[in-house]
Amino acid sequence: KAVLDRIEAVEPRVDAYLTVSKEEAMEAAQKADKALAQGETAPLCGIPIAIKDVMCTKGVLTSCASKILGNFVPPYDATSITKLKEAGAVLVGKTNMDEFAMGSSTENSAFKTTKNPWDLTRTPGGSSGGSAAAVAADMCLGAFGSDTGGSIRQPGSHCSVVGLKPTYGRVSRYGLVAFASSLDQIGPFAKTVEDAAILLQAVAGYDPSDSTSVNVEVPDYSAAIQEDVKGMRIGMPKEYFEMGGLTPDVKNSVDQAIKTMESQGVEVMEVSLPHSKYCVAVYYVIAPAEASSNLARYDGVKYGMREERDSLIDMYHATRSSGFGPEVQRRIIIGTYALSAGYYDAYYGKASQVRTLIMEDYKKAFEQCDAIVSPVAPTPAFKLGENTDDPLTMYLSDIFTLSANLAGVCGVSVPCGFSSEGLPIGLQLQGSHFQEEKILRLGHHFQ
Ligand code: GLN
Repeated sequence: KAVLDRIEAVEPRVDAYLTVSKEEAMEAAQKADKALAQGETAPLCGIPIAIKDVMCTKGVLTSCASKILGNFVPPYDATSITKLKEAGAVLVGKTNMDEFAMGSSTENSAFKTTKNPWDLTRTPGGSSGGSAAAVAADMCLGAFGSDTGGSIRQPGSHCSVVGLKPTYGRVSRYGLVAFASSLDQIGPFAKTVEDAAILLQAVAGYDPSDSTSVNVEVPDYSAAIQEDVKGMRIGMPKEYFEMGGLTPDVKNSVDQAIKTMESQGVEVMEVSLPHSKYCVAVYYVIAPAEASSNLARYDGVKYGMREERDSLIDMYHATRSSGFGPEVQRRIIIGTYALSAGYYDAYYGKASQVRTLIMEDYKKAFEQCDAIVSPVAPTPAFKLGENTDDPLTMYLSDIFTLSANLAGVCGVSVPCGFSSEGLPIGLQLQGSHFQEEKILRLGHHFQ
C-alpha cells in the first residue's frame, strides 16, 4: 500500500511505469500477509518489485515500449517472473524503457519519457531507466532490467542505485524479449548491494528452457558477500582512464572509491585491456546484426499490431514502418547491412574476431585480479533531449559497459558519489564468469 501510494504521489513527475498492476499487487500483498502470519519464509514474501517491460508477464501487457507490441499480452511468464512469484514477490508493475532496450536514456520509448528522480530535467539513463528511477524514487523496493550493453549498470549509476548484470548464462533469458541474444542478460536493481544479492539469488540458475543458461552451482550470495575483502585484488584498466570523455567529477569519485577500497585492505593494481578501444565499434555491429534477425518476427502476423493492406508485402511494410520507432529502424538497417552478402566478412565476421580478442583481454586480466574497477559512464546523467539527435554521442556513452557483455562477464554498478551539480556517479566492478559473489562482496564492503 505504501508503495502504491508513493507511485500515486511521484509517478506523475517521474513517469517510471508503463503499467501499474494495482489490484493484482494488492491481492498478492494480502496473500503474502496471510502467508507471513502463518510462518511463510519465502525469501521475497511480500516484497514489491517492478519489472522492465521487456520481460514477459502472463496476462500483463508487455510492450517493450514499442508501438508494434502495444497490445501484446503474453500467455506465459518469463522464467525469472515465475521464480520471483515462487519467491513470494509482489509484482507492482512494468517499467518504461528504450524501445526494445535500444538506447541509453529511455528517451526511445514510444510511450513516455522517464525523468531522473535526482533532477527531473535529466534522463535516468537507459535502457532500463524506468526500473532504475522506480527504485531511486521508492516506487518499489527492487526492480529487474535487462543489460545488453550497459542497460542495467548505466541507469543504476545515473540514479544512484545498485545495478547488477550477471554473467551471460547465470539467469535464464526465457521470456525475455530478445534484442541481441548473445549479449542480453536479466539482472536486479536495488538500493543496496545486499538487496541486489538477494534478488539475484531468486532468479539465478539453470533453466532447460534457455539453452544458453549454464548449469553451474548458485552460491549463497548473501553469505558470500559478508566475507572479508582483505587481500582481494582489483585491477584498474589503464586504457579506461585514457579513453576520452571522462569528466573530472567522475574521475575524482572513482579515484576516491578506489582509495576507500585500498583502506579496507584491497590490493590495487594496474591491468591492461588493450582492445577496449574497439568495444563500441564491435558492439554496434554485433548488437544491431542480432537485433535485425531477432526483430524479423514482428511482421504483423504473429504478434502485436498490424496495419491492414491489400497485399502481404504492403502489410509487412506498413506494419514495420509505423510500428518501429526511428532508433529501432536504424539498428535494423545497420544490422541487415552488416550481415548482407559481400559485407558479412568485413563487418560481422571482423567484429566477431575482435570480440574474441576482447574476451582474451579479460581472461588475462582476471588471472591477475579478482575484479576490474572503473567508472560506469564517462559523465553523470545528461539533460533530456541533449543527445537525441546525435546517436553517435549516445553510443559513445556506453564505452565502459559494452565490453562486459561482449565478453559475457558480470558487472555491478555501485553508487560512489555525486558531481558538483549533485548528480549521482557510479563505480563499476566487473568480475570473471560466475564470480558475482566477488564483485558483490567488494561492492557490499565499499557501500
Ligand atoms: N545503450 C546500449 C544500446 O543502445 C545498450 C542497451 C542495452 O544494454 N540494452 O544498445
